[in-house]
Order: sequence, then structure tokens, then C-alpha cells
Amino acid sequence: MFRGAFGSFVIAWLAACAPSEPAPSSPGAPSGDLGSSTANAPGSRPRLVLPADTNLLFVSLDTTRADRLSCYGHSRPTTPNLDRLAAEGHRFVNAYTPMPTTLPSHASMFTSLHPLELGVLRNLQVVPSEANTLAERLKAAGFATGAFVGAVPLDAQFGLNQGFDVYQGPRKRPERRAAPVRKEAAKWLAEHASERFFCFVHFYDAHAPYDPPNDALGDAARAQVGAPAGAFATDPRVDCGFIKPPAELASDGLAATALAYEAEIAYADAELGLLLDELRASGVLARTLVVVTSDHGETLDELVATHGYAFDHGEFLHRRELNIPFVLRLPDASSPVAPGVHPEVVSTLDFLPTLLELLGAPCAPPFGGRSLSPLLVGGTIASAPMISRRHDMTEWIPPRFSGEEFSLIDGSWHFVESAHGHALFDFARDPFGAHDLSKQEPQRAETFSRALANWRKVRGRALWGEAKLSDDPDAKAALEELGY
Ligand SMILES: [Zn+2]
Repeated sequence: MFRGAFGSFVIAWLAACAPSEPAPSSPGAPSGDLGSSTANAPGSRPRLVLPADTNLLFVSLDTTRADRLSCYGHSRPTTPNLDRLAAEGHRFVNAYTPMPTTLPSHASMFTSLHPLELGVLRNLQVVPSEANTLAERLKAAGFATGAFVGAVPLDAQFGLNQGFDVYQGPRKRPERRAAPVRKEAAKWLAEHASERFFCFVHFYDAHAPYDPPNDALGDAARAQVGAPAGAFATDPRVDCGFIKPPAELASDGLAATALAYEAEIAYADAELGLLLDELRASGVLARTLVVVTSDHGETLDELVATHGYAFDHGEFLHRRELNIPFVLRLPDASSPVAPGVHPEVVSTLDFLPTLLELLGAPCAPPFGGRSLSPLLVGGTIASAPMISRRHDMTEWIPPRFSGEEFSLIDGSWHFVESAHGHALFDFARDPFGAHDLSKQEPQRAETFSRALANWRKVRGRALWGEAKLSDDPDAKAALEELGY
């Protein structure tokens, strides 16, 4: 219940990835026992046991909003390869990012800390060295670690390289396509197939500009969704993401651009399929835990009329930007397994404690999420409200968008608040938050506002102070070229 929201924050902080029950014979038991919650009480659920040689392949499809994927119900067949993976594993319907911006969102996945706790509130900041990342934790547990990223917001200088033996980015260019990223990753995977590994793969393609390659895979991706040839959403943005609606954004131009976005998703999915095919053929997939997710969604043409804003993300806390895909496929020999679709509200902060528990690696604090492993065997977890915050904007923006903005998602309720006002939506009746219910439900809005204020008191402070900004002029220029 939302009245207990403040208590839930504390429970979520303390409970995290404590094992459900002592299981000395289980290779999945983590050593980081931070307490227990009702849902994780000893004996309350069967344990999920993964083989002791399980690897981790973690794929992030940048800028990929969940509702545009065919395995999330989209009408066009954008993601046949991810659909297959989801059918073989677990799909989380209500997974959200705490900040719809590339670096802070990925940093939350790999540290299990909210961007406010980490002090990373925008791209160009540097993840503090004090953070104990997933790669550092798995490397300490004996994993070979390799990362292959598609764009400069995740460049090694911004600190997510902590714990990786190999961390390869686009090198002097703002971004690169999925194909070279996949090839580098496949080469590294082949070289480390006999070791236990953690491989992070980042495909940046769905980010603007929307221009799938003019090759066989790109053509197939366009055909898959009915997108026209060409490059779309290519213009440099004006005023920190706010476009001035140009003449070419007539309704047919908007529709073609939205289809080109879907073609980029289809192209990234095809590259994902090639990577998975190689792992299947070599037998490695059978002993690999695979995660596919995204750092944030994308606003398409929904806000052109009201805000002169399109084909971007980070400035608004709508569901289309916060709701991310999260698919998890277990290795073949895992037991017990309960494939399924999970409606619980979960967060990128939950990834690290979940994966460490599944992989049997120590899970020492600090971390702010909780293990979702009970859900993988048909159990339950305690509900916890999901708090997101708009990224810091340092350039000129319209006054309406100045200052902090937060959102709180509790079940189907979505509360958004800034210094300029608040709004309340019910995803159950209104999936994309078009109808503000705060006037009809003032008491509920007030309760959420108090819960948010309480959360900020408990979780709103940077553990190591605000992260420093990179002073690399080349990186700043590259990010500006990408529209940041
Ligand atoms: Zn991103």
C-alpha cells in the first residue's frame, strides 16, 4: 500500500540480495547478508540453483522503449530474436530506469545505486572510483570481464570501465553501429569460452539519428517494420533537446521517423541474433545467463504539439522513457525454473543483487536494489515504489523545465512532481499517462508527495559527493554531436 511507502524504501535498502534460506550446498548463496525482509524470510521460497560455471552476457539496447518490442506486445515484428529469448526465459513488464539518460542509467545497473546516491546526474560525469561495480565484484569472484560499447556516453573515461579486463568503445568517434560492437564481443567471447566470463555488450543504434545501415541487415530491418529508406531525426537539437517544430515535421514525416526508429531496433535485434547464434553454435549459450535490457525509452512524436519536442529522452519522466525491456534467460541446466512474465514493478537497481545471487558471487554493501530471484521460481518479493528523477540540465532550457523533477511509480500509480506542480496517472486505465488524476485524487497525490519527500531524506544524498565532470574537450564535443 502506498501509505507504507516510506517503510518500503528502508526495507528495500536493507533487504536487497539476502538469500531466502541457508543453502550450504548451493553455489548460488551470496555472502553479503544485509538483513532480511518478509518476502525473503528463511524457508519462504525454493532456491534457484544455477550451475557453478554459469557465465553472464549482459546486453544493453540503448534508447529502446519497451512498448516498441514485439515481445512486449508491439504490432510490428521488431524483435524476433529477443522474442525467442524472452519465450525461453523471463520477461519483466514493469521494469523502470531511475533516470532516462545513458550514463546515469547504466551506472545504476552496474552499481545498484540510484543516480542521486551515486552523484551521477548527467552524462559527462565520472562514476566514483569508490563504487563497487558489477564488473569489479565478478572479477573478484574469478570472472574474465569484457565490455564492448557503442557510444561515447559510456566511454571508459566516465568510470564504468571499473573492473573490466577489456573495455572497448568507439574510439575517437561519437558512436558506432552494432555490427563492429558485436564482432569485437564475439571475438573476445570465443577467446574466453573456456573461462567463466562477464561480457557487457552495448548497442547504441536506436538512439537518434535513426539511420539503419544501407546493407542487407539494414534493408531487412526496414522491410520488417515498413520503414522508408533514409536517415531520420538527424538535425542537431535546439535548446537542450527542445526542437523547434520544423516544416518537415509534417504528420507523414513524423510517422516515417517513428518507423525508422523501429527499424533501428530491428537492426539491433538482428545483431543480437547473430551474437546469440554464435554462442548457441559453440555450446556456450547453454551455460550462460543472458540479460537484455535498455537504459531508457524514447519520446517519439507525442510531444510535438504541446512542447515542440520529439525523438529524444531525458527531459520528461513519462512511461515511454522510463519503462525499459528486461529479459532474463537462465542457463539450460538451471533448476528449478519457472518461465514467465512478471508484472512486479522492478528497477535497474535490482539487476546487480539479482545477478550476484544467481551467479553465487558475494554481494557486499552498498547497493540499493533487491534480488528478484524469488520471482524466477514462482515466489514473491516485497513491493517497493520506484523513484526516478530527471537528469540535470545545465544548458538553457525553458523555465517550465528548470529544477528537479521526480516520479514515483507504485503499482499502477504514477506520480510526477517538480517545483512547478504535480500530476497523477493510473497506468491501469491510462498506460501512457495522458490524463492527470491529481484533482480527482488529491489525498493520494498528497500521500505520494510525502513519500517522495521521505525517500529523498533517506536516499537522496550522494554517498561520495557529487561526481566530478570530465574535463575532456573531445568527449564534450562528441556528446554535443550526439545531441547532449
Ligand atoms: Zn541511452
